[in-house]
Amino acid sequence: MGEMVARENLGLFDTPPGRLEIRLAVAIVIGLFAAVLIILPFANIPLPSSNAFPPSIDAVMFADELIIGALLYSQAAVFRSRALVVLASGYVFAALLLVPHALTFPGAFSPDGLLGAKISTAAWLAVFRRTVFPTAIIIYALLKRTDSTALVEAERLPVRVLPAVLGAMALAVLATILATSGHDLLPPIFVDATRGVWTSLVVLNLVVIALSATGLYLLYRQKRSVLDMWLMVALAAWLAQSLLNMPLYARFTLGFYCLFGMMLASNLIVMLALIADSNRLYARLALSTAARDRERDARLMSMDAVAAAIAHEVGQPLAAAKLSASAGLSWLDREQPDTARAAQSMRETIDAGNRTFEVIKSIRAMFSAESGSISEVDLNELVRETAALLDREMGVHRVSLQLSLDDDLPPILANRVQLQRVLINLLTNAIESLSTTRRRARTIAIKSERSGGRLQLEVSDSGGGIAPAKLASIFDPFFTTKSTGTGLGLSLSRTIIEELGGKISAAPGKLHGATFNIQLPIRSTVTAVRGSPIA
Ligand code: ADP
Repeated sequence: MGEMVARENLGLFDTPPGRLEIRLAVAIVIGLFAAVLIILPFANIPLPSSNAFPPSIDAVMFADELIIGALLYSQAAVFRSRALVVLASGYVFAALLLVPHALTFPGAFSPDGLLGAKISTAAWLAVFRRTVFPTAIIIYALLKRTDSTALVEAERLPVRVLPAVLGAMALAVLATILATSGHDLLPPIFVDATRGVWTSLVVLNLVVIALSATGLYLLYRQKRSVLDMWLMVALAAWLAQSLLNMPLYARFTLGFYCLFGMMLASNLIVMLALIADSNRLYARLALSTAARDRERDARLMSMDAVAAAIAHEVGQPLAAAKLSASAGLSWLDREQPDTARAAQSMRETIDAGNRTFEVIKSIRAMFSAESGSISEVDLNELVRETAALLDREMGVHRVSLQLSLDDDLPPILANRVQLQRVLINLLTNAIESLSTTRRRARTIAIKSERSGGRLQLEVSDSGGGIAPAKLASIFDPFFTTKSTGTGLGLSLSRTIIEELGGKISAAPGKLHGATFNIQLPIRSTVTAVRGSPIA
C-alpha cells in the first residue's frame, strides 16, 4: 500500500510478537517439557486422593477459558474475522465442558459423579476437550489465510457472534449427552474410579498428539502473530500433557496431580499473556490515534470544506461588486444622470471584480502547492487506499464494502490528490445516505473496469437514492438536500473529472440507492490536466 495509509497492526491476530515475548514463550515451553521429563519416572507413584482437587482446577480453568473466549469474540467482531470466531468458539466449548467434567468426576460431588455419570464419563469429556480444542486451532489457522486476503475490513462481511456462541453451547450439550446417556456407545477408558484402560488411553492420547502437532505445524508455517505464538504455547502444553498422560494408568498419582497443575499453569499463562498483549495493543493504539487523526483530517479536509471556504471568501467581494454596479446604474437612471459618480461606481465594481479574482487565485495557489504534481495513478490502488481511509466511518455506520476491481487496468495520468478528493466525496455521500438506511444491508460497491479506450469506475450504494426530479441538479453548485451540506462536492468532482477529459454521471441504483459512474480516458494528457476552468 502507499505511504499514506500505513495500516498498523491492531489486533492480537495480526501483530507480530516482540523478541522478548518470543523468548519468554520458548522458555515456558522448554520449562513445561523439562517438568514432564522430570516427573515421568515417578508419574505412577500413588498419592492420597483429594476429591476436591479436580473440580477446583476445573473451576479456575472454566473462568479463564471463558475470558479468553470473550476476548477473541470481541476481536473477531471488530476485525470481522471468521477464523477468530471459530477459535473463540473452541475456547467456549472447551470451557463449557469443564462444568459437566467437574460434576461427573467420580468422587467430586458424589461417589460416582452427578448427571448419571458412568465410569468413563469424565474421561470422555476430557477427551472431547482435548480433541475439539486443537481442531478449532487447525480451522483457525486455515481460515486465517482466507481472512487476510481482503485488504479492507469493511470488505469482509460482518461476523455473527451470537450464533457461534449458541453453536458452541449446543455442541457442549451434545458432547455431555454423549458422554453420559450415550456412555455405553463409547469405548471404556476406565475400568473403575481410578484405573484406566491402557489401550484406550494410548489411542486417544495419540489422536490428541496428532491434532496438536498438526495445529502447531500450521501455526508455525504461517506468518505468526502474538495470538498464534501463544496458541502454539497452549498446544505445546497439551502435547507435554499428553506425554505425561500416556504412561499414567491411574488417577491420584503424582503424574495425575502434576497433569492438572500443568493444565492450570499453561492455561493461566496463555490467558495472562493474551490480556497483557491486548492491553498493550490498546494503549499503543490510543497513543497513535491522535497523531493519525491529525494526518487524516488534513487529507479528508473534504471538498465541501474547501468549497465552503471558497464560497465564503468569494462571496464578500462579489456582493460588493453587485452593490457598486447597482449604485452605478441608479446614478445613470436619474433624470440628470451623474456620470462622474456612475463612473466611480463602475471603477469600484471593477475593483471588487479584481479582488474576487485575487481570492480565487490565492485559493488555487493553495490547492496547487499541495497537489500540483501529475503522476501515473493506479486507480485500483487509489480506490483501496481511499476505502481504507474511510474504514472507520464505514465501521461506525456498519457499511460493508464490496470491491470488484479489474486487475488489468493501465495507469492513468492524473493528479492523485484531486482524484482522491473525488473518491472521498462519492464515498462520504454514499455513507451519509446509508447512515439513515434501515432494514436492509448497507453496502457500497466499487467496480473498476476497462471498456474500450476508457477506464470506468462505478460507485454504488444501497442507501436512500436520489429523487428522479433532483437527479438533473445534483452536480449543480450549491445544490444540496442536507441541512449541513454545501452542495459543492459533486460540482467540484465534476470539474476535476472533466479536467481529466472524463465524464461523471449519476443514476438510480439497480434496486436501491444511487450509482455514480466515472469514465476516464486512458491517455489523459498533462496539458489537459493543467488547463483550468477558473483562472
Ligand atoms: P452535499 O453533500 O454537500 O449536499 P454534493 O454536491 O456532494 O453536496 O451532493 C449534492 C446532493 O446530491 C446531496 O445533497 C444529495 O441530495 C445528493 N446525493 C449525492 N450523492 C448521493 C448518494 N450517494 N445518495 C443519495 N443522494 C446523493
